[in-house]
Formats: sequence, C-alpha cells, structure tokens
Amino acid sequence: MAEVYNWQLGRKMKYVFEEAHPQKQFTAVFNINRCIGCQTCTGACKATWTFSKGQEYMWWNNVETKPYGSYPQHWDIKILQMLDEAHAAQKKQATWDATQTDAKAPYGTYNGLTIFEATDGNQNAIGYIPEDKEWRAPTFYEDTSNSYTGDNLGISTQGVSLPEHQTWFFYLQRLCNHCTYPACAAACPRKAVYKRPEDGIVLIDPSRCRGYRKCVEECPYKKSMYRGTTRTSEKCVACYPRVEGNDPLSEGVPMETRCMAVCPGKIRLNGLVDVAADGSWVEDPKHPMYFLVKQEKIALPLYPQFGTEPNIYYIPPRWAPRAYLHQMFGPGVEAAIARYAAPSRELLAVLQLFRTTQKMIFRYEIEEGPLVHETEINGKPWQMYNDTVIGFDAKGREAVRLSVVEPLHERPPERLNTI
Ligand code: SF4
Ligand code: SF4
Ligand code: SF4
Repeated sequence: MAEVYNWQLGRKMKYVFEEAHPQKQFTAVFNINRCIGCQTCTGACKATWTFSKGQEYMWWNNVETKPYGSYPQHWDIKILQMLDEAHAAQKKQATWDATQTDAKAPYGTYNGLTIFEATDGNQNAIGYIPEDKEWRAPTFYEDTSNSYTGDNLGISTQGVSLPEHQTWFFYLQRLCNHCTYPACAAACPRKAVYKRPEDGIVLIDPSRCRGYRKCVEECPYKKSMYRGTTRTSEKCVACYPRVEGNDPLSEGVPMETRCMAVCPGKIRLNGLVDVAADGSWVEDPKHPMYFLVKQEKIALPLYPQFGTEPNIYYIPPRWAPRAYLHQMFGPGVEAAIARYAAPSRELLAVLQLFRTTQKMIFRYEIEEGPLVHETEINGKPWQMYNDTVIGFDAKGREAVRLSVVEPLHERPPERLNTI
C-alpha cells in the first residue's frame, strides 16, 4: 500500500493508490440544524436517476433519523464495531489528539486505525455486504427519539434545554461523499471506479463493472449499490451534467445537484473548490465552502476516522449529546457548535447563501448594513447587522443578493383575500 496525506486525520495513512488529486473537488455543506426531514432531496434524486427496473431499493440520497435510523440498516454501527474489533486485535486505541492543530491538521491528529489500516491483509479496506432486508427502506426509525424516563402519562419530566437535550434525534442527510481516497475505488478488482480529475466526482464505469460488489462491501458509508437487472453496481453520480454546466438551465456555469437544489429547508450549499497538487484546498477566503470548512470550521466531515477523506461537510446539531457527535464528526464539534450558536458577522451573512440559487457560488462579497439587534449569547455580548451578501457564479456574474433580515412584503389591500 502507498502512503497518502489525509488532512482530516492530520497524518499520513495507508491507501492502495499513490497520492493524486483533482484540480477541483465537488463538495457540499449541510446544516443539520435546519433540516425538516421532508425527504424532498431523496425524492428528487429518485425521480432523476433511480426510477428504473432494478433500482427500486436504491436511494442514492437518503435522510436518516439518528440515533436509530440508518440506510442500509445499522450501516454505521456495523462499521464502527468492525473498527473496534480491529483495534482490539491490534491492541490499539481509536483516539484523537486535538491538542496541536494547524492548517495541515485542523482537527488535530487521529491516532487510531482507518478502514484501510484495519484490514487483515485480504482486503484493501474492512467492510461487509448488507443483507437484502437491510436495504428494505430508507426511513427505518424515522422521527424516533432516544428513550427517556417519563411521568405516569409517559411525558418527559426533564423537558429540553441546551446545551444537550435529554430526549433527542436529528436528521442526517446522506449521499456519496466523493471521497478524496475512495474505498469503493480501492476495493474494485476491475478498476471500474474512478475519480474525475476535473471535479473529483467518483463514478463507476458500467462497461468495466462485472458486479463483484467489492465497492458495496468496502464503501464504509454504504453508498455503492448493486443492481440485479444489469448485474452492475451503481452510485450517486453527483448530477455531473449539472456540475459541468451542461443543463439547459445552467447558462454554461456549474449548477447545484438535484438533491441540493430542491431543499425547502435551505440546509444545503454545494460547490467546487480548487485543490492544490498536495491535496490541500487552495486558499480562497471569499469562497463560501472554503470559508465554512477551512476558515470558520463550522462544517465537519462525517466519520473522518474511516479515512476516506469525505467531501460532504456537516454543521452539527446544537442539541445532540456531544459524545455522540464527537464519534460522528471528530473533535471539531464543540468549537463548531460554539461558532454556529454565536455566529460572527461574516458567518451570519454567508449562512444566508444556502439554497438561494441553482448556480454554484464561487465567490461572495458583503456590503455592510446597520446594527439591528443586540443581545447576550452564552454570557457574551452579540450583535446582529443587516448586512447584504452577494454570491457570484463561475463566470463572476452576480447570481444572488440577500440581506440578513428578510424583507417583509405586505399585500396591497385589494389582494388581502385572494388565496
Ligand atoms: S462514499 Fe463510498 S461510494 Fe462514495 S466515494 Fe466514498 S467510498 Fe466511494
Ligand atoms: S448529487 Fe445527484 S445523483 Fe447524487 S444523490 Fe444528489 S441528486 Fe442523486
Ligand atoms: S430536502 Fe432539505 S430539509 Fe428536506 S430532508 Fe432533504 S436536506 Fe432535509
């Protein structure tokens, strides 16, 4: 195996291929705090890509209710258990050292084993093939909270209060992470899985695939799926015609994918970032993705300890137990929630950009507005300004303009009762 640098782990790790990086990387930020679990994203992907025979149980995008929901059922519990067993066998601990952080190791260093390092040598990554029944529904345990001790009517006696609710659930939005070090590509004996140099999108070449399902087995996120009618595996294609700017609506610039563009909760922001030859993101502080992930660090990778360097980032839910979130998003959780709870002036403006135009935003500018609100958050003074944020598309044209305070539109009297 080769040695590659994984910045999410803050160290080099083993991977089957030599290090090589695309010029740009497909990426997204999901704000879990805003998701309403409507599954519009799930339906949009199904209606676009997986409505044919043999794809009935295939949901490239799904939204699962944590802690119990998962599609396929128990996918993360099972991989975490396999990793635990590998640590026990090798007498190692899956610990993070977050005392030293810098640009090359923003969350500190992961000292445990990744899925590539936990193998017994017979595979390139640990994994399993889910049984058919585990793919049966994308909504197992939807809207189900953890259990709590209630009164004699079953009503919670604790109520809810921050920082951690005693009774909780949250929605986790999932699709292929278009990983920097894809386990699906590492697993494939036919070399049918590839990462595009122009945008980092990971695709399966159906003409090479023979349906061995090694990608299904070794993708830790279980986002490669087998189709019995064609005897090939399929996965999220990142809506690549839209990303390429070939959609008739796109006016020749990259557009957000279908699952991103339909989101009524406005939780998703999708973009392309420039990648340097060493895999780091080219410094670009006015790019919304760079700002959210690298500068403010409020958006974190999902299970970074797996080692694939996933490229979908999550703003963690404010109310969920920190230990659970730490396991899911790594040691950046506390700082991310603190910054989200009391956003900086710039962050508050950038958060307005989510899901406001179908075009990908490559740069933003902020026009300063007046102070509109002052309060205290967590014992510290906090001010809100009605700034205006302007997003620009790939050709530098203005794509969207929004103010922090939403304008109020009053109906004229003659239209008061026209519903
Ligand atoms: S999430 Fe899975 S299918 Fe997607 S690129 Fe990563 S390893 Fe491959
Ligand atoms: S990016 Fe496109 S193909 Fe992938 S899950 Fe979203 S809608 Fe489906
Ligand atoms: S469409 Fe948006 S709000 Fe609705 S479930 Fe999907 S991510 Fe959540």
